[in-house]
This record gives sequence, C-alpha cells and structure tokens, in this order.
Amino acid sequence: METKTNQFKAEIAEMLDLVVNSLYSKKEIFLRELISNASDAIDRAKYLGLTEKNLVEDNPEWKITVLVDKGAKTMTIADNGIGMDAGELEKNLGTIASSGTKAFRKALAEKGGEALPELIGQFGVGFYAAFMVADKVRVVSKKRGTADAFQWESDMGGSYTIADSQRDEPGTSIMLHFREGQEEYLDYWRVSDLVKKYSDFIAYPIFFRQIDIPADEKAEDKKYREEREAKPLNTMVALWKRAKKDVKQEEYDEFYKHLTHDWEAPFETIPFSGEGQVEFKALLFIPKKATMEIFMPQQKRGLSLYVRNVFIGDDIEMLLPSYLRFVKGVVDSSDLPLNVSREMLQDDAIIAKIKSAVTSKILSVLETMKKDAKKYDEFWRSFGTVLKEGVHVDWSNAERIKKLLKYPTARNEAGKLVFLEDYVKDMPSSQKDIYYILAEREDDARRAPQLEQARKHGCDVLLFCDPVDDYLTESLREFDSKKFVDIAKGDVAFGSEEEQKAEKDALEKAAGEMKPLIEAVKKTLETEVSDVRLSTRLESSPCCLVAKEHSLPPSMARMMRAMHEDVPEEKRILELNATHPLVKKVASLKGDEQSGAIRMLYDCALVAEGSPVSDGAAFAKSIAEMMMK
Ligand code: ADP
Repeated sequence: METKTNQFKAEIAEMLDLVVNSLYSKKEIFLRELISNASDAIDRAKYLGLTEKNLVEDNPEWKITVLVDKGAKTMTIADNGIGMDAGELEKNLGTIASSGTKAFRKALAEKGGEALPELIGQFGVGFYAAFMVADKVRVVSKKRGTADAFQWESDMGGSYTIADSQRDEPGTSIMLHFREGQEEYLDYWRVSDLVKKYSDFIAYPIFFRQIDIPADEKAEDKKYREEREAKPLNTMVALWKRAKKDVKQEEYDEFYKHLTHDWEAPFETIPFSGEGQVEFKALLFIPKKATMEIFMPQQKRGLSLYVRNVFIGDDIEMLLPSYLRFVKGVVDSSDLPLNVSREMLQDDAIIAKIKSAVTSKILSVLETMKKDAKKYDEFWRSFGTVLKEGVHVDWSNAERIKKLLKYPTARNEAGKLVFLEDYVKDMPSSQKDIYYILAEREDDARRAPQLEQARKHGCDVLLFCDPVDDYLTESLREFDSKKFVDIAKGDVAFGSEEEQKAEKDALEKAAGEMKPLIEAVKKTLETEVSDVRLSTRLESSPCCLVAKEHSLPPSMARMMRAMHEDVPEEKRILELNATHPLVKKVASLKGDEQSGAIRMLYDCALVAEGSPVSDGAAFAKSIAEMMMK
C-alpha cells in the first residue's frame, strides 16, 4: 500500500496536546499501559488458538520483550499476541471509541489538564500515554492469520501515517523515541523496578534486552548482562491464587488498575475462594466511583473469566447479577472445560453456581461494611441506585438487599440516610406501617403538605426521590412484617386507636358543616379532580392533592406514555383541611366569588407540590387582585 497520512480526530489531537504539555509527574506509567495492552493482545491470541488451531503454533512461547537501544534512545515493547492489520491500526490508534468521544471531550473541558491521567484511563486510551515520554512512536504489527505487516507512526504533529512494514512473527512492536531528559527508562534497573511495581502479576514473562551492545563489551559484563536478560522481570503469579496474607494492598491496587483502567485504587478489595459444589478462586473489587456508563444499557459488565489460568473472556455477564454491575474482578475455575464459549456459558450450571456464590459474598461484604456508617454512605452514594434494583430482580436475595437500603427521611436533615431497620426501630408504638412519600426532588418531598399529620403524630416518613424508587415501591412490599404505605395516596390514619376515633368523629361533624362547600368544589373542579373530601393528613396547609390507592406511580405512567401506551391522565382527589381558616372563609363565600376562590385553592395545591398550574396568567392575575384587596 501507499503511505497514507491521516489527521487525528479532533479530540485525540486535543488530548495529545495535553499529554505533551502535561506536567504530570508519574510519566513512568506509560510502561504499565503498554505492557497491559501487550498482555491483553496475548490473552486474545491464546483464546483464539483454542478454536482456531491454525492461527497459533504448537506450544507457543508467549512473551513480552522490552528492547532498549541506548544509542538511539529508543525502547520497543514487543509481543507475539493477536496483532493488528492496517484497518485496525487506523481504527484502534486513530480514534477514541466513538461512544466515548463526546463524553471525553466534555470531561476534559470540565476537569482540565490536571485530570488527564485519570481521563486517559477512564476512556481506555492508555496507548497515548506513550507520548508523555516519547516524541515519536512507531507501531509495527502483523495480525495473526494474515501475511502482511503494517506500521503506524506519529510524531505528534496532529497526524499519523499508515504504511507497509516488515515483521516476521505475528504480534505487535511499539517503538518509542524518548524525548530529551527521559533517558532513565533505558536503564535495566529502572525498567525492572517499574515492572515489579506495576506489572508483576502479568501472566506472561516480560524480558529485558539491550540491542546496541558495544563491540568492546568486556567478557564479565557480557556474562552479567546475559544472565539478567535470561530471567523474566515479573513473577507472573496470578494474584487471585495467592493467599491474601501474602499479597500487599499495593499489588491488589495495581492489578485492579490493570483490569479496569481506573486510575484510582479500588474502594474495596474482595479476595475469596468458592469451595464445595464448585471450586473457584475470585478476586473482586468495588471501585470508588461509578463511571458514567453504569446507567447505560449497553455498558460492558461482568467479570473476567479464567479456566485453569487460560483467559476465556472479560465482561462475562453471566457471572454477576445486573444490580451488582459496579463490581469488577476475576473468577478462575478449574471446573469448566477449556473450550467453553460465551454462548455455552449462558446456561451452564457451574456458571450459575459461581454467580450465586459471588452474589452472596458481595452482599456479605456490604453487610459488614454497614457497621462503618461513613464508609457505607460513601459506597451508597456511588452505587446505591444500582443496588436497589436487586429488590426488583433478585427475589431470592430481596430480604438481604432490603437491609442494605438507605433513605433520607422527613425528620432527618438533608444528607443523613437511615436503614429500614433504624426507621422501624424509631416508629411510635401506634404506627403500624412504614410511610414514604414520592417526589422528584428531596426539597419538594420535605415541603409536601401530606407530611403534616405524620409529623404531628411523631411518625417519620421515608423520602423516595431517586427515579428508581417509585418502580421499587411495588417490589418492596413489606419489611419486618410492615407494609410500605404512600402517605400521599388513598386513606391514611395516624395515631392511636382513640386518637383515630376522635379524629374520625371530628371529621364526620365537620363533613356535615362542610357539605355545601364540598359540593361546590366538586362542581367547580368537575374536570380537574375525581373527588373532593376532608383530609386526615393536613395540619397547617389548606388543601392537597392525593392519588387513589391503586393508581400508577407518576414515573411509571410517564414511561408507559414514552413507550406509546395509552395511559389516560388519572384524576386525583382534592383533600380539604376543615380546620383551616382559609377553607372556612371559602365556605362562607357565595356564587362567582366562591368558585374563583375554589380555583385559587386548587392552584395553590398544585404549586405546593411543585406541579405547574393550568393557566399561569390567570393564577397570577387572581393573586394580584387579592393583594389589592
Ligand atoms: P484500551 O487498551 O483501553 O482499549 P488503548 O488506547 O490502550 O486503549 O488501545 C487501543 C486499542 O488498540 C486496544 O483496545 C487494542 O485493540 C489495540 N492495541 C493496543 N495495543 C495493542 C497490542 N500490543 N496488540 C494488539 N492490539 C493493541
């Protein structure tokens, strides 16, 4: 082919510019990134070889070699992995996966250059870390199963070239021309230390080789050099196979970063092994923060699977329930056949057993973490919304998951969350049910007039303000044999039996007196509300709107409408506070004056819950008129 020059996509050019000018001190991580890519490439070749024997020679000697040329100031990281053809070089090294492009640019603009290393990791563009130390990079690659080699080259000028090249074996070599001042990476000890620090667990041997041997090298120097070049720099022991007590947290942290491309250490590290029905070893991690994809349905999720040290695949969804998709890690089992494919895993009984053991282990780690409120809250803020889905989808563990849920409540200040157990413990003896209120924002929930009587009777109310909360109300059903009751729906009664009786009597008496008003309101608001009645939940507000007991949650109705289902707009019930002076006043009015006041009352109820009024201009005019009076 002819040499082809391509411009980098704008966001790569932008990113490279930041990489070059970055003052980031840990430039050394470029080596970890390139070794990590080499290791992934061998993993893929090895896996391919399981089914396509012709692509991989018998007993291949998988390895990664770091070649240095001190005179030319270059380092080449070579692997005999899967390799890339011309199209893949262009696609993999010339663009950022298109789904991430926009997000990357946005994050870059928001966070600035400081956050660059973190962003490179998050967006899976580790290869470009090479430009932190090099001003020219050449990638030579030959894809397994093809005859021709190609090269990709860039000196950062905003473009790269793709051309024919030469390489005997399949695989990839990445040659870096070090910038001025980066010569330290040509030194054996520096490289050896870096490999131990970041890449010790890599499953393939990493060798060091110096390629510009001086002609006058002394015999003893030669011997010494050859000895150290014969041994791999890494120990290659799979971390999940080592006893926890023998592994330093830093080693776990580095492995986690290799696995996830996260630049931060994990929030929690969970090494464990399954015994009994299925034998396996697992090393799981809970990250510190949720990445933005966690809410995207097409997000990669699942764990990496190894069978007897052979990498089978990453993102194996069948190993983790969807509501634990924030967990990352590795599972290694000797009970599965080596030639297992992704499709076969789908309904494999062993995989199902591993999934169930992994799920149970993670839940038990969270149960322990609960005792440390500060830590648990940090976890909850990152992943609580995802974990909640478990109540809905995993019936066998629903009771355990319910005990892990935390909510803001009406009585506690914003920011403080309580477990359901604690809510139940604090219930006054007369309270039978668990009360909640749904709202889109916590502030709206706190201000809701429907809370007034609950407050007066010393009952706390859970504030369900997370979009998933209203889907969950169905599945929550009961906790500790107590029903969940929406205080803004249907009938609710607070207080002891005597109090309820007294209230009922008072209400009946008031109902007699208020009958003409109720009739007038029903007539005036005929098209807006389904019914009008006196309220048991109000204290200081004149009125509020409540849904019927079995109505659809508003978000569910919205979703069904979005799916073009015909969901009729459900009318609500207007409840009046018979003891409120304003209501009494309206009761005393007549004719048009009364119906005008009734409309105002209704609009006030809408405004109080944060809903729009049907005719804002008319509402404003009425207020102005009233103020004049
Ligand atoms: P990531 O590894 O997170 O996907 P990188 O920017 O490091 O992002 O690499 C981009 C892509 O280039 C990789 O996904 C892989 O497909 C390809 N790649 C990088 N290095 C190698 C290599 N040594 N062998 C084969 N493919 C590679």
